[in-house]
Amino acid sequence: MPDVINPATEDVIATVPSTSLEETDDAIARAHAAWPAWRSVAPGDRANLLRRFSDVVRDHVEELAQLEVANAGHTIGNARWEANNVANVLAYYAGAPERLFGKQIPVPGGVDMTFQEPIGVVGIIVPWNFPMPIAGWGFAPALAAGCTVVLKPAEVTPLTAIRLRELALEAGIPEGVFTVLPGKGSVVGQRFVDHPLVRKVVFTGSTEVGQGIMAGAAKQVKRVTLELGGKSANIVFADSDLEKAAATAPYGVFDNAGQDCCARSRILVERSVFDRFMGMFETAVKGVRVEDPRLETSEMGPLITRSHHETVASFVPDESQVAFRGECPTGPGFWYPPTVLAPVAPTDRTFQEEIFGPVVVVTPFDDEADAIRLANDSDYGLSGSIWTRDIGRALRVARGVETGALSVNSHSSVRYWTPFGGFKKSGLGRELGPDAPDAFTETKNVFISTED
Ligand code: NAP
Ligand code: MG
Repeated sequence: MPDVINPATEDVIATVPSTSLEETDDAIARAHAAWPAWRSVAPGDRANLLRRFSDVVRDHVEELAQLEVANAGHTIGNARWEANNVANVLAYYAGAPERLFGKQIPVPGGVDMTFQEPIGVVGIIVPWNFPMPIAGWGFAPALAAGCTVVLKPAEVTPLTAIRLRELALEAGIPEGVFTVLPGKGSVVGQRFVDHPLVRKVVFTGSTEVGQGIMAGAAKQVKRVTLELGGKSANIVFADSDLEKAAATAPYGVFDNAGQDCCARSRILVERSVFDRFMGMFETAVKGVRVEDPRLETSEMGPLITRSHHETVASFVPDESQVAFRGECPTGPGFWYPPTVLAPVAPTDRTFQEEIFGPVVVVTPFDDEADAIRLANDSDYGLSGSIWTRDIGRALRVARGVETGALSVNSHSSVRYWTPFGGFKKSGLGRELGPDAPDAFTETKNVFISTED
């Protein structure tokens, strides 16, 4: 039974049995058996069940948040946001069952209409970096669309998903409709890809594993949504509110200790203000509070595991161009200080590869075209920020950067009611927003002749 470890203390906080292949097959069979009844629940009744699920999650926000602090080392402030996000996403998609509209299309000789039919059993594979939100972004619209769900949390962070499943049952979601299967990616996750009764796989995680999932799904022409890696640019123009850009830049990349697919891990700064930006950025980075994530003041916790700590550290060998660093606790826990590398050439490994830790590179640019070229010099395209006071430039650059979720004079990329997902190797398909339930349906066209 794998141990679940608190990354801030290295204490074992639980042991969770891994689901076997046979148990996975049984759960998929039960999800398939539960599907006809679930898709037949009247839209208003399915909406009420999801609303009740949302309410029950809301009643347990503090418990779920504490669980995530202990399991993933998230700051308590972030963890409360994450638990509330699950409740919000459920409440939002509780509005979807009565709104799964088809179309009526004019045709000669009859009536033509389309139906959005639920796809069947959906397998959701979740990474360790945001265990609660990423689970909810998958299961809430899938359940709303009339699908049943089997969900595999990351092996190292299963606790909140297991609890959410209990809360679903408490809310009255029928047995078999939403099942959580902790275990290995190579066993449970791979079975979602290979099992013919799983009709769609929603995968969030590394680009490498995502590519394997897409290849495996091709054998059955299985539907996939992929949310993969990122190396997003934070583009700072000379005409921006430079103080605000510098003060907020650490939080655009070091939130969740940089273990965020949307981390703005490449800061591109117009050359004429590079030094001034770096001066203010240094003050801001040194002000980030890296401390016990249970403290209300904590702004950054530890990395998730010892092996991930080693991976992050390998990007910063002794000869690295470290411009400056923040502080972090010593002693037990997988702590790594906020680290700024500058100036970094676009050919450098640290500019191109996702580090997934609190390490940011800063690179100067010459003009607007150069900024867009550098931002697009990446296999990834998930999020990004643009700092400028020129609204025309903001829009030109926003349209020019090949990425799925951009913010101007802000670092927010995720609102549950707006679409989220990546260009290029950052993914395929979109989650969240008004259209997410459609991704769990097939469009069916029906023609009815009105001729005698
Ligand atoms: P990962 O290694 O790809 O793992 C993600 C999930 O896939 C885990 O549950 C893992 O199980 C499972 N898995 C591993 N091998 C599998 C296989 N062969 N078949 C099916 N499932 C398999 O990613 P990670 O290291 O946990 O997470 C970090 C990555 O996620 C980063 O690249 C980050 O950018 C990306 N991410 C993307 C988004 C987005 O929305 N675009 C959001 C968050 C994170 P185990 O637990 O057994 O390893
Ligand atoms: Mg991994």
